[in-house]
Amino acid sequence: MGTGQDMQGRRNNMDDFWSALEDRERELGPEDARSAGAWAHWRLGREGDIAWLIADRRDARVNTLSEPVMAELDEALAQIERDAPKALVIRSAKRAGFFAGADVRELMHLRSASEARAQLSRAHAIVDRLEALKMRTLAVLHGHVLGGGLELALACDHRIVAGDARLGFPEIHLGLHPGLGGLGRLLALVDPLEAMRMMLTGKAIDPQKALALGLVDAVTEERHVRAAVRDAAETGFEGHKPTLKERIQSPLLASHGARKLAADRMRSEAARKAPPEHYPAPAALIQMWEDHAGDPEELRSREIESFAQLVTGRTAQNLLRVFTSREKMKHRSDSAPPPRHVHVIGAGAMGGDIAAWCAWSGLRVSLTDLEPTAIASAIGRAAELFAKLGHDGIATRDARDRLIPDPAAAGVAHADIVIEAAPENLELKRKLYAEIEPRMKPNAVLATNTSSLPLEELRGSLRRAGRLIGLHFFNPATRMELVELVRHDGVEADALATGRALLEAIDHVPAAVRSAPGFLVNRALTPYLIEAMALLEEGHAAETIDAAAERFGMPRGPIALADLVGLDVCAAVADSLRRQLDRPLPAPSRRLREQLEKGLLGKKTGRGFYRWRDGEPVKRNNLPAPTQEIADRLILPMIDACLECLRTGVAEDEQVIDAALVLGAGFAPFRGGPIQHARSAGPRLLHGRMWALSEKVGERFCPDPGWDRLL
Ligand code: NAD
Repeated sequence: MGTGQDMQGRRNNMDDFWSALEDRERELGPEDARSAGAWAHWRLGREGDIAWLIADRRDARVNTLSEPVMAELDEALAQIERDAPKALVIRSAKRAGFFAGADVRELMHLRSASEARAQLSRAHAIVDRLEALKMRTLAVLHGHVLGGGLELALACDHRIVAGDARLGFPEIHLGLHPGLGGLGRLLALVDPLEAMRMMLTGKAIDPQKALALGLVDAVTEERHVRAAVRDAAETGFEGHKPTLKERIQSPLLASHGARKLAADRMRSEAARKAPPEHYPAPAALIQMWEDHAGDPEELRSREIESFAQLVTGRTAQNLLRVFTSREKMKHRSDSAPPPRHVHVIGAGAMGGDIAAWCAWSGLRVSLTDLEPTAIASAIGRAAELFAKLGHDGIATRDARDRLIPDPAAAGVAHADIVIEAAPENLELKRKLYAEIEPRMKPNAVLATNTSSLPLEELRGSLRRAGRLIGLHFFNPATRMELVELVRHDGVEADALATGRALLEAIDHVPAAVRSAPGFLVNRALTPYLIEAMALLEEGHAAETIDAAAERFGMPRGPIALADLVGLDVCAAVADSLRRQLDRPLPAPSRRLREQLEKGLLGKKTGRGFYRWRDGEPVKRNNLPAPTQEIADRLILPMIDACLECLRTGVAEDEQVIDAALVLGAGFAPFRGGPIQHARSAGPRLLHGRMWALSEKVGERFCPDPGWDRLL
């Protein structure tokens, strides 16, 4: 995840680049000025005998490789072939980076594998044309260099990083693998096991790691780029010197037998994280490597075929849908200027993490708690986080400087936004608001992290109720990127916009919801958790119940999840929903009550419904297999709650609901979210099963009228 810290660094570098670019364009001769205006997405200029091809996708914040961008690249390459400069440099004019990858919307509109195949073949031909140019070719990279962008850079002779960059192949997260010839080119360039790791994990690497692997030839400061380019145009680079490990490993991996062994290991590792029946891309990638490494022609045609199948398959299409929803949620035009100072009240599990993440993201943060020890412990946790995230000591030190322990709450008077993460108690929070409101700046925003208290009740004691919003972070706030941005009927639009701007500044994803019991995610997740406890009460084994959900595609079964969240927390949220909702939910189970009485609260006490060892629940083997009915009893109420939220306007957009449940509750990502799943599984069928369960199990399964929109 890009951080504000990275962005700050990049911004400075890019300022240099922008002025350099402007200088260069001023220097372009009349001939170059003509070609500079010829295309919508590329500019071609000349500096002596070096041609500069600048990617600058029209009307877009970032460069992506759409069909028009590729078609123009083809024309530009034809021009370059005619001009025959001594060297060609490709780089991006976007501050955010080189290329973010393929144009995801185009991938979503592919209607068939044959259409995908044809489009890929055209794109391959263009990248091959770049690779075949007779002059020396250099890619100058900064910011994000991802997916197809990195594949484009791989077709150049050399790669130079200017300033900071993140280089990677994130396609696997979208149910895909590289599709623009990157597979063969990466395998030919770097240690094949490292290459496979990059493609299978989707993790981006920093410039130093890329240099060590031989993925790039040089890393330099922006101000030295032109000199580096001039040198490289003359002499090229020596190339990567293989390490001892690489010298031993490479000949070994040339044999199919050794590759098979390594491939088997990769397969089982990949299957642990993503079952191949739900996520086919890793297995496809590993198979291509095992069978065809060392045969670039074969790899290339297999890559096209495999990508075409995957991209038009259900998993990739659903993951692409979640991805585009997430982008839409993140980048809206109605956010305000980013807050500069955040004051956080409550340095517990949530407040401590929120404060740390805001400081890491470049904001000034003051942190208050009644207990000085809570502040000290939160600052200690934050320091560990910064040390882990910091590429260099400076970033870590700066983040520490930005996080200010503030037992006297002096920061309240300076903050643009105050985030309240005090205990979940209405009276306590209202009293707190009465104390702090008179000290806040007139236009500052008060954001509560409450998970269950209605904003309409919390705002009662405020003089300017319109400044109150909800920012419902999930636990752990440093890793869970979803945040429910909660409004009430009296909220002021700019207060919400400030909340959105804060989330943008800290790279979190807002889901706009209306204040309502459980908001959206807990409203949908709670019935799943308490139904699991009802099943437990009926005598089903915890392992069987969890297996039903995991087979469906949930990352964790509901019993293990309840243990992880804490049984006391689950019980409190369920009680609150039971009180506020006007539809039935199962009563707290006898087993749950017993657990609470004994203080066996889950992972945090070492024992809940499971015993926990080394951070994982200890599960028994050979228990009855889960049935369809168990799976239905867990999953259908979640879908039902989402349709209810859509009908009642808790959330207004079906795609936002789906993405929020995937990002906030881990709803089987390859299914694209609860409503998308209902649509593709057959709404009539699922609706019928709800009615059947309502007769067999209880009226809580009576489907919400919200199903009508699907029927
Ligand atoms: P916590 O008990 O870990 O932390 C609360 C902190 O607030 C404690 O350190 C306490 O000393 C401090 N505090 C109490 N009264 C205070 C006051 N008057 N002024 C300043 N500090 C005070 O609680 P938490 O889990 O971090 O939850 C905080 C809020 O976040 C709650 O509203 C909760 O519902 C919500 N929330 C929690 C989770 C979760 O998983 N824990 C997730 C989402 C939202």
